[in-house]
Amino acid sequence: MKTINVGIDLGTTYSAVATFDAASGKVEILKNDIGEEITPSVVCIEDGETLIGQEAKDQQAAGNLNAAAFYKSMMGDPYFARTLDGKSYDAEMLSGVFLKNLKTSVEKANGVNISGAVITVPAYFNEAQRQATIRAGTKAGFNVLKIINEPTAAIIAYGLTGGGKKTAMVYDLGGGTFDVTIAKIDGAQVDVIATNGDHQLGGRNWDKTIVDEIVDRFQDEFGVDIAANKEDYTELVVRCEKAKKQLSNVPATTVTVRSEGFSGQYTITREEFEEKTRRLMAETIMLTEKCFEELGNGFGWHSIDEIVLVGGSTRMPQVLDTIRKKFGKEPRTIGSKVDTIVASGAAMQAHLCVAGSITLSMGGGAAKSSGASGPISLTIDSGSIRDVTSHGLGMLAFTADGKNIINSIIIKKNSNVGVPYGKSYNFGGDKLQVFVLQGESTSPYDCTLLYKYVVSGMKRGEKNNFTINFLYDQNGVVEVTGSLSDGTALKVEKSAVTESIADIIARLLREKEEAAKKAQVDVAFAIDTSGSMYGAPIDEAKKSILEFVAQLGEDAKTSVISFANSSSWLCKEAKKSEVSAAVRRLDADGGTSADPLDFYRREKRKTDANRILVVLTDGEWFHQDDAIRSADRLKADGVKIYAIGVGDADYDFLRKIASPGEAKKIDLSKLVATFREIADGIATESSGSFTSLG
Ligand code: AMP
Repeated sequence: MKTINVGIDLGTTYSAVATFDAASGKVEILKNDIGEEITPSVVCIEDGETLIGQEAKDQQAAGNLNAAAFYKSMMGDPYFARTLDGKSYDAEMLSGVFLKNLKTSVEKANGVNISGAVITVPAYFNEAQRQATIRAGTKAGFNVLKIINEPTAAIIAYGLTGGGKKTAMVYDLGGGTFDVTIAKIDGAQVDVIATNGDHQLGGRNWDKTIVDEIVDRFQDEFGVDIAANKEDYTELVVRCEKAKKQLSNVPATTVTVRSEGFSGQYTITREEFEEKTRRLMAETIMLTEKCFEELGNGFGWHSIDEIVLVGGSTRMPQVLDTIRKKFGKEPRTIGSKVDTIVASGAAMQAHLCVAGSITLSMGGGAAKSSGASGPISLTIDSGSIRDVTSHGLGMLAFTADGKNIINSIIIKKNSNVGVPYGKSYNFGGDKLQVFVLQGESTSPYDCTLLYKYVVSGMKRGEKNNFTINFLYDQNGVVEVTGSLSDGTALKVEKSAVTESIADIIARLLREKEEAAKKAQVDVAFAIDTSGSMYGAPIDEAKKSILEFVAQLGEDAKTSVISFANSSSWLCKEAKKSEVSAAVRRLDADGGTSADPLDFYRREKRKTDANRILVVLTDGEWFHQDDAIRSADRLKADGVKIYAIGVGDADYDFLRKIASPGEAKKIDLSKLVATFREIADGIATESSGSFTSLG
């Protein structure tokens, strides 16, 4: 048996399957097992038996509550569920059941095996809806080659076989979704430049106006609310859809309704219907013109060379009339192909996915570039079709003043998919968390929070230069990767987010405030001013302090203690600019070294900041045990003590008062460098404690 790859238009109301035949260079629409090119996207499960398509639709029309339709527009919605045959199904499961049975039906009817499939989705589908579609296809037993946008598929099928150079627009009004897509076509090259739409706007909204009208009239006539009876209501919905279709061909039609033993007959005219649905038509025009606006540069109806009407609902005369009026020219209608063009484009794409290129055999008039007479063929490769994203992508980020969190847009709507957008970081921490949102607004509340990514693998203890790349892959699905400036890949872990946006923002602001407090440096220098420090030692000490302070942030607090026979403050919690005056007053004026630690402990206020005490001495202290005890208490309180000895200092003692590993006995000539090293370490450490969002 022949194994083939197919394109599937998984429609809200109808689905179609097609395959590309490389030998003939043409697309073939694959019929289902009852000989139809299109299959209603309806599932009915009853007594353990599954029906799809027309049979399921008939059940739905008869009011069978074990039948489900229109589930596609609920894809990715965690709250949607339908109970069929006593079991609960979400939209993804229903799509999976439908696709699996459609596969079997088409295989049986055509004597083939279907392996790979390109499945189409409305361009406006978001991350959750695309992911759900991929999973449904996989569950149905397909090797999902790709997910492509319905209008793009239509453009591929129509645009490529049309050839030439033009700007084309696809106006796609289906059963449950509306999409508008604009593309520049140049021979085999198709560049989608903009897309817009609404996945809750389609033929069923038009149906609903008739349904509502009849419910009202029935209520007026018999005092019975049909909507209260699920079975009768479902039946009415199916009849109204039928009536709507009739109104596309005749000026008036009648709908018969039965409920609670009453029977009513109501006539609906096309004029009334068009009047009632005018605002729905206007909505599609508004979305189309918004798409022009997003393109800017005065893009308008005049900028378009051709408009193609796709989707079953474009059969309504009001669509053609409205577009004709706006466009000023005749849009292209594709007759019976309106239901299958999307599947055809998907079939071409499926062939492109597996073969890398595709050669189409076309009718006359197109691909003038070939310059030859006779049958014309056009070869395209996978790079010839460039699509765009219908949703911006951003991440939570602090505003410049650090007081608020916004959605910082990384990938704008209508940007090409398949292109990575990098964001550079110079960051001192070893973990970075990134919250990714889908949407166009800078307000996170208007966007959909997708995932949290935790990026790790940075080198510890230093600031790292790295890039995080954000990408919409060819399926329009989000991918995030990271790498250090030397090319080493960073680890990126993706997880679902369970907190609400409001909770996350509140938490991040709180964490930032706490981290900022901790990152604030509160440093005190205790400088030995006993007689032996006179001359070079005290001069070096002054230089060292000034160099140290120069490396601190503007909001660092600095204190200087001079200690000999007793201790005193030369400055206390001073600003950077005030330190040099205090340092100038440092003078080794005699006496012997006394303990400055107890003094610091008693006289220095406790703060939330990062408290650091740098002790410099050149001799042995009296009462060393008391000093060690004071040091222990300070360390227990979170003060970090650096003990630096020059001259006759006792290293063993310094080790006892310092924080672990922070005692040093050095040559005087190394003093400035040693202080600089400590200051460097503090700078890296404090920036590392931030929960930075870049
Ligand atoms: P699609 O999702 O593209 O298959 O479109 C299906 C939608 O087209 C459904 O809402 C149908 O009711 C609608 N439709 C199909 N044929 C007609 C017609 N002749 N007139 C009006 N609407 C139609």
